Formats: sequence, structure tokens, C-alpha cells
Amino acid sequence: MDLMGLCSICGKPGAMFTCSLCGRLVCSNCFDSHNSVCSNCKVGKQ
Ligand SMILES: [Zn+2]
Ligand SMILES: [Zn+2]
Repeated sequence: MDLMGLCSICGKPGAMFTCSLCGRLVCSNCFDSHNSVCSNCKVGKQ
């Protein structure tokens, strides 16, 4: 859980975004910059 830089969703290195809802550290592929949420939380919003 302390592996900084690893995406919490896909597990790949390069995570640099923090979801505003769940606080997960995720990569650009798993982050929706429009809503500032991860793809996990985005599913629930739409
Ligand atoms: Zn990812
Ligand atoms: Zn999230």
C-alpha cells in the first residue's frame, strides 16, 4: 500500500494523479482530468 508511483487501479508505474473522491493514486490512463476522479469513481458518477 506504500508503493508510491504505482497506479492503484491498473498497477502500472507512473501514477501521478490523486482521485478527489477516493484518494487513490492513479495513472493518467485511469484518471479523468475533467472530473478529477479515477476511472473507478467515474463509473459511479455516470
Ligand atoms: Zn492506471
Ligand atoms: Zn476514485
